[in-house]
Amino acid sequence: MPPKKAFRVSPGPRTRATRASSRASSRASSQAPTPKSAAKTPRRGRPARSKFVISGIDSEIPDEEDKDDFEVPATDSEPESVTSKEQKRRRTGRNSKIAVVIPPRLTSRAKVGASAASSVSGSPSSNLLDTPPTSISATSTRASSHVATRTQLAPIDFAIKDSEDEDAIALSTTKKGKAISKKVNSAPVSQATPRRFPRRSLSKPEPVIEDSSPDEEDDDVDDELDDEPEEEDDDVYEEPEEEDGDDDDAFEEQEADEEVSNGSDNDDPIAFEEQEADEEASNGSDNDDPIASAVQGAVSATAAAPSPTAHRRNRRRAPKITRAERERSQLYAAHPYLQHIWTEIEKCDPIPTEKAEQPEGLSLTMLPFQLEGLNWLKKQERTNFHGGILADEMGMGKTIQTIALLMEKPRPKQPCLVVAPTVALIQWRNEIEKHTNNALKVLIFHGQNKETNVSSINKSEVVLTTYGSLESVFRKQNSGFKRKGEICKEDSVLHKVQWHRVVLDEAHNIKDRSCNTARAVFALKTKYKLCLSGTPLQNRIGELFSLLRFLESDPFSLYFCRKCSCKSHSWKFKDFRHCDICSHTPMEHVCFFNYDILKPIQNYGNEGPGKVAFERLQSLLKLIMLRRTKVQRADDLGLPPRVVKVRRDYFNEEELDLYESIYGDSKRKFNTYVATGVVLNNYANIFSLITRMRQLADHPDLVLRRHTDEDGNNNLVCCICDEEAEEAIKSKCHHTFCRLCVQRYLDTYAGDGSPDCPTCHLALNIDLTQPALEAAYETVKKGSIINRIDINNWRSSTKIEALVEELANLRSKSRTVKSIVFSQFTSMLQLVEWRLRKAGFLTVMLEGSMSPSQRDASIRYFMENVEVEVFLVSLKAGGVALNLVEASQVFIMDPWWNPSVEWQSGDRIHRIGQARNCCITRMVIEDSIESRIVELQEKKANMINATIGGDQGAMDRLSPADMQFLFNN
Ligand SMILES: [Zn+2]
Ligand SMILES: [Zn+2]
Ligand SMILES: [Zn+2]
Ligand SMILES: [Zn+2]
Repeated sequence: MPPKKAFRVSPGPRTRATRASSRASSRASSQAPTPKSAAKTPRRGRPARSKFVISGIDSEIPDEEDKDDFEVPATDSEPESVTSKEQKRRRTGRNSKIAVVIPPRLTSRAKVGASAASSVSGSPSSNLLDTPPTSISATSTRASSHVATRTQLAPIDFAIKDSEDEDAIALSTTKKGKAISKKVNSAPVSQATPRRFPRRSLSKPEPVIEDSSPDEEDDDVDDELDDEPEEEDDDVYEEPEEEDGDDDDAFEEQEADEEVSNGSDNDDPIAFEEQEADEEASNGSDNDDPIASAVQGAVSATAAAPSPTAHRRNRRRAPKITRAERERSQLYAAHPYLQHIWTEIEKCDPIPTEKAEQPEGLSLTMLPFQLEGLNWLKKQERTNFHGGILADEMGMGKTIQTIALLMEKPRPKQPCLVVAPTVALIQWRNEIEKHTNNALKVLIFHGQNKETNVSSINKSEVVLTTYGSLESVFRKQNSGFKRKGEICKEDSVLHKVQWHRVVLDEAHNIKDRSCNTARAVFALKTKYKLCLSGTPLQNRIGELFSLLRFLESDPFSLYFCRKCSCKSHSWKFKDFRHCDICSHTPMEHVCFFNYDILKPIQNYGNEGPGKVAFERLQSLLKLIMLRRTKVQRADDLGLPPRVVKVRRDYFNEEELDLYESIYGDSKRKFNTYVATGVVLNNYANIFSLITRMRQLADHPDLVLRRHTDEDGNNNLVCCICDEEAEEAIKSKCHHTFCRLCVQRYLDTYAGDGSPDCPTCHLALNIDLTQPALEAAYETVKKGSIINRIDINNWRSSTKIEALVEELANLRSKSRTVKSIVFSQFTSMLQLVEWRLRKAGFLTVMLEGSMSPSQRDASIRYFMENVEVEVFLVSLKAGGVALNLVEASQVFIMDPWWNPSVEWQSGDRIHRIGQARNCCITRMVIEDSIESRIVELQEKKANMINATIGGDQGAMDRLSPADMQFLFNN
């Protein structure tokens, strides 16, 4: 057996020499317990204020009322007249000169703060909300003149130039039809959106191995929205029609792009400053800040008595008004409340922290922060948002807080609906039954025999369903389905019921607002809404929009017409030219969220207008989201320490020979792509090379004995991992994939547009949310790799033996220790299972092809039988949504470059109810691509900790530079 080593979590880069010496060194494991002492102050510590309701946010209010509520305060000197639209436009738009000055040191301090916070919590969260408020200083009078303003503005200008590398690309993509003189980062991560630019021929990858994170972040947000129209067309189900008019988001996004771009386009610093000023006028700052009232004062004072200089300047500047400015003032003229919405938002206080009573009938005693959560949930439903987002870190009992809410008395007359991922469905039922002593009538809406009767649904108190089932009934209602060659439609009973409350578990399942699942969710009729999510949403700005859309928060999820009072939750342009409501053109409509939040952040990052947008987002999230972390509430939780370690092993000679020959080939191919500048064109090939090498590090059989068509059974084989597809889904080109494999494939792609199908090389078009194709569990079992290996002459692999050794060590210490083994490759788990059984371990496996009841049986079997030591969990089975506190050890068999995936795996065991010390071990073959993947992972983890606005999507993405890094052995 080769020597075993374990190093600290974050070792520095190693060279051949140090590797050689470490080879010789004896085995040592170092542990890095989670620091507890660094608990941060909870952010909800603000003094109570009586007001929770944001006036004018209720979507019921007709437009006219809105206007009254949010009118620019008419001053005595200039009474408002009906025909003063033009005046108002000028007043609200161009006359208010307030420059925001954000000293660079504040920016950097905020960054450092966030970085510290994240590294403490040990989670991917960047805690945008925990950042100390940055003060905004404002010059509030016209008397300061534009010279002064200009001087003050300099830092912003400088900051933008300074951060050229970060911003250049964003700027370049927005400069439609204009000559671009700015230096553009040579990284081939093109930010151009496919609609506006022809697909770019791919440039050479950057030779420098540098983290091109900022580009990636930007790219990500862009992608999320810009990909929509393409996905729209994705019609795997042969839907006969697509009436829901979201198809044209494209126009609107483009529109918003242009608006911002026009601003950034402007090389004239004064014009730029004026746009700034516009935005500031509607922003303001913290209400307690005296400067804020000064800002307000400034707005009205300016409006009331423009100084002579202003007149002069206006005249001089009149022809120079930018399109962005004009459009913004048009928007404010048509929807006056938008101008002050951010000031209003900042005036509102979040719900004060108070504990609710322990609910009667709940068998479990809730922890202090859970009672605070329950109080928040109840009060949040009474605000105009009618609900919110509970975003506690994973493992803190979001389910139990929700169940406590469902137990409220008096019980509502209508039922509540809980939508959850398939793997969590049965756990929801079990937890409700267990903690309420069967006090709630639960109905499961899933599988073949779904309830079709509205009245029997109304008789239950809680209905549990999956995103897949919800999507499926919605599709059958809207698009119909084929039966004997005819298209039939069927009313969706879930959409007929008037729900009391809809709860979305793992709400980021609807992150793509144009996917069918999201539409199915939006179409539900409900009084109250609750989103549950354990992933930090602050950094997923594009995804956040979907949740706001679900909450139907006015104005943040609305589309507005600049020419009239038209506003709508969906993009409705049946004829592609005219709004269904007001008949103005798509160009005249804007999505407020994109306009004020997303685009400024995309275009400026955390600088200037981007920073302002971040602060706005922050103040909005304070009102709709509650997030606590384990570190913050460590005392309440009383969790045992968690240790993460990396176990490094070396291939044996035979494995090394094989690996090196395949790796040599792969590297040659890769270098050819680099030399000819076609890295991104060959993304599918490169991704599959990487996959093969990862499989080789697990066990050579994964590659040598992989599934072939000659095997005789016509199972669905994944085009990426060459295994029996788990949670099989089909692309538009009719190729099959594991849901997880294709998701990682798409997430990893760093080019523009969508990557090609690894099999047919057409542009890959696939709905990730489609329900899995039915593949009987038994036939999948038949495709097991165990049936393809020669059992008598089979040899184990270094990694499998390393695992056996780890497990044997645990066993000698105590027999009661339970372990979970995660892998992306089912074949690997099958080999591990076979080997472990030979070694006398009792194991149980969780696979993606299992039905919910099979999954439940496996989970119970593992949890309830003391002698079952090892749970083999396929990452494709959605194992990351499980609660497995019976186990205290996690082994991650094949590392991935997105660190949050592994953090999530660890969260399965490190959660409420865990009494033992937890250990998460990452199994790495040192002389393979895996050691590079681990290094890349650490690089990405540092990156996310260091960036406030870092988008999570960048964690997955593999830029050409990253690829180069992987092939640099
Ligand atoms: Zn209109
Ligand atoms: Zn309209
Ligand atoms: Zn696969
Ligand atoms: Zn294909």
